[in-house]
Amino acid sequence: MTAYPTDLKFYIAGSWRSGEGRDHHQVINPATGAVLAELPLATPDDLDEALAAVERGFKSWSAVDVNARAAILHKVADLIRERTDTIAAYLTMEQGKPIAESKGEVASCAGVFDYFAEEAKRAYGRVLVRPTGQRSLVLKQPIGPVAAFSPWNFPVSLMSKKMAAALAAGCSIISKPPEETPACTIALMQCVVDAGVPADAAQLVYGVPDMVSRHLIASPIIRKVSFTGSVPVGKHLLKLCADGVKRTTMELGGHAPVLVFDDCDLEKTLDMAAFTKFRNAGQICISPTRFYVQDGIYEAFAKGLAERTAKVKVGDGLDIDSGMGPLANERRPGAVSALVEDARAKGAKILTGGERQGNVGNFYRPTVISDVPMDADIMNNEPFGPVALIRPFSRMDEALEQANRLPFGLAGYAFTQNLRTANLVADAMEVGMVGMNSFAISSPDAPFGGVKESGFGSEGGPEGLDSYLVTKAVHMY
Ligand code: NAD
Repeated sequence: MTAYPTDLKFYIAGSWRSGEGRDHHQVINPATGAVLAELPLATPDDLDEALAAVERGFKSWSAVDVNARAAILHKVADLIRERTDTIAAYLTMEQGKPIAESKGEVASCAGVFDYFAEEAKRAYGRVLVRPTGQRSLVLKQPIGPVAAFSPWNFPVSLMSKKMAAALAAGCSIISKPPEETPACTIALMQCVVDAGVPADAAQLVYGVPDMVSRHLIASPIIRKVSFTGSVPVGKHLLKLCADGVKRTTMELGGHAPVLVFDDCDLEKTLDMAAFTKFRNAGQICISPTRFYVQDGIYEAFAKGLAERTAKVKVGDGLDIDSGMGPLANERRPGAVSALVEDARAKGAKILTGGERQGNVGNFYRPTVISDVPMDADIMNNEPFGPVALIRPFSRMDEALEQANRLPFGLAGYAFTQNLRTANLVADAMEVGMVGMNSFAISSPDAPFGGVKESGFGSEGGPEGLDSYLVTKAVHMY
C-alpha cells in the first residue's frame, strides 16, 4: 500500500522548501480524522522570491518555441500516467474520494496537458490584407505571469487545468492549490519539474489563503489571476484585481437545475442521476442538485432516486467497495447538516439519509429530499454535499423559470426524448454548460465555465487557452 509522504514541501525557483521556522497546516485524513502530516506555509519573503522567479521565468519560457513547450507538456502527461496510482492514493487519503474516482481524476489531468500542448500550436493570429501592400496583423501573445488558486474538491485536476493552459500559452505561473490536499498536488508538481519545465516558469506555494492572494495580486508582476472556489471568495479576489486591472478567470459556485420531463427514459435517467449526484460526495460545482420533475413521473422519480441512493455504500475511499467517501473537511458535515435541518423544519420530506454517519471521519449519508419549499435555505444556497432536492412541475415555462431563478449559472441538465423540448430548454437555460440526457459535460477540448455569479471565462478548449493570451494589432504601412 502507498504510504503518505510526511516531508511535504513547496517549490520556489527550483528548490523544494520545508519547515525551517515557518508556520504549518495540519493535513487530516477526512475518513479517519488522523493527522497525516504538517504542511509548511509560505511567508511573504517566500512569495517575493516566487514573484521574482516568475518574472524571470516569463521572459525565458515565453521565448521558447511552441513545439518545444508542447514536447515538455506531453512529457508531463506521460509522467502523470506513469504515477497515477501513487498520486491517486495520496488524493484519496487527504481528500476522501473513492480510489477509483481519484484514479479517474489523475488520468484526466494527463489528457489536459496533452490537449493544451497541441492547442497552443493553434494560437494563430490573423492577417488583414490592405490595398497597396499594406497589412494589419493580429497577434496572440502570452499575457504574463499568472497567479492560480485552486480548491480541494478536484485538487489535481483543477491545478492541472490552470497550469497546463498557462504554460502552453507561454505564461509563467505561481500555483496555490489547497492546503487540505497537498501531497497529490506536490506529486503533480514533481511531474512538471521532472518533465523539464524550467525552474522559474512554475512555482508551487501553500499558505494562509488570504495572505497569499493579497500579496500576489498586489504585485505588478502578476498579470492574470485564475480562481476556482466559492462566490464570496471570488468577489473578494475580483475587488483585489480591480486595483491593478488584472485579467481574471472566475470559476465559482453553482446550484445546478435538472429538468426531468415525462417523456424521458426514466430508468436510465435515474441510474445516471444516482451515480452522478454522489460522485465526490456531491462536492462538485456542476453537481446536479435541484431536480424539477414533471407531474406524471414525479412520484416514480422520487421513489426510484431514493431507492438507488439508499444503496450507495459509504466508507473510506481506500476501500474499493466504497461508492462514496467522507466529506473533504470538518467544515462540510456541519454546513450540509444545517441546510438539511432547515429544510426538514420547513416541511420538506427526507426520503433517505439526512444525517451524519458514524462518529469517526466526516461521513454524511447520501440524502434525497422531496417537496422542498422554495424558501428553504438549501433551495437557494449551494449545498456542496451529497444532497438531491426534488420538486414537481407541470409546464416547461414554469420549470425554466425555477431553473433560472438563482444568481448562479454554471451547469444545467435536462432529460427528454423530444427534440424540440431539448432545443428550447438548451436555449433558455441561463448557464454556461448544458447536459442534455447526460451529466457528462467536462472534457479538455470543451469550454468549462459559468455565467451570472458563477463567474466568467473558460477553462477548457481554445477558449481556455485564449484566457492566457492577449491580442495585439500591428498595422504595417
Ligand atoms: P471557502 O469559500 O473558504 O474556500 C473556497 C476555496 O477558496 C478554498 O479552496 C480556499 O482555500 C480558497 N480561498 C479561501 N479564501 C481565499 C482567499 N482569500 N484567497 C484565495 N483563496 C481563498 O470555503 P470552503 O469551506 O473551503 O468551501 C466551501 C464552499 O466553497 C462550498 O460551499 C462551495 O460553494 C465552494 N467551493 C467551490 C468549488 C468549485 O469548484 N467551484 C470548490 C471548492 C469549494
